[in-house]
Amino acid sequence: MKRKMIRHKFVDLIPDMVEEGVIYISIPFSTATHKCVCGCGEIIVTPIKPTDWEIIWNGDTVSLNPSIGNWSLPCQSHYWIEENKIIWSRKWNDLEIEIGREKDTVAKAKHYGKFRRWLSWMK
Ligand SMILES: [Zn+2]
Repeated sequence: MKRKMIRHKFVDLIPDMVEEGVIYISIPFSTATHKCVCGCGEIIVTPIKPTDWEIIWNGDTVSLNPSIGNWSLPCQSHYWIEENKIIWSRKWNDLEIEIGREKDTVAKAKHYGKFRRWLSWMK
């Protein structure tokens, strides 16, 4: 069953038993963890980092950016978490997945490139 909502819990440590329909957010470990919302039971860990995901907490609900694409899982689910709602994407084809990965690589390269420039400027 595809889920439409997720609850969030702020935790220090991600519990051993990850409950379905809950996204655990650990500030000390800069990660969010949830079970794939398609119901397949796979645990999805999203690092909260400038180059990975960002969490927006508005005091009531959370949003996760960018979308979650579980390409490496058999279910290949792709969805957004927006204000605790699950917004499902249609299934991406192989080319789109490829482009998505490429974009990610470019974003990371840009980010770390900037950082390196900043470091060399500091010297
Ligand atoms: Zn799944």
